Amino acid sequence: MNESKLKPYMGYSHAGGSEEGAVLIFAHDIKEAKCVGWPVLHGMFVDDFTDMAVRIIKDGDYLFKQMPKWSVVKLNADIAHVVDNPPVCNNCEMWGGGEFNEEGYCPDCAEEIEDDRKYMADHPELSM
Ligand SMILES: [Zn+2]
Repeated sequence: MNESKLKPYMGYSHAGGSEEGAVLIFAHDIKEAKCVGWPVLHGMFVDDFTDMAVRIIKDGDYLFKQMPKWSVVKLNADIAHVVDNPPVCNNCEMWGGGEFNEEGYCPDCAEEIEDDRKYMADHPELSM
């Protein structure tokens, strides 16, 4: 049995911050994440190897469920890889913040939208 299994990492620029752009990296450890992440990040928004930031995504198990087919094939084959355009929230267009609901919203947005809906339901005059 292979003990190490693929884990989700976020790769981005130290200088720019993850808001400026980030990729999802599946790797067995941070060293491998940097290794497979570098060629992709370098072409996108990281100029210098020392500017590359890679951190593990805590509680990121849900990410494995949201990946496109080609990525799932690699996940199943235990191959480290980069997903440079992971599925994003329908509202804030971010990812990595938690599992999306059926409508494609991240937990934060889902809560906000739910609050809005409640408010609108209580104030039907606003939707006229
Ligand atoms: Zn969102």
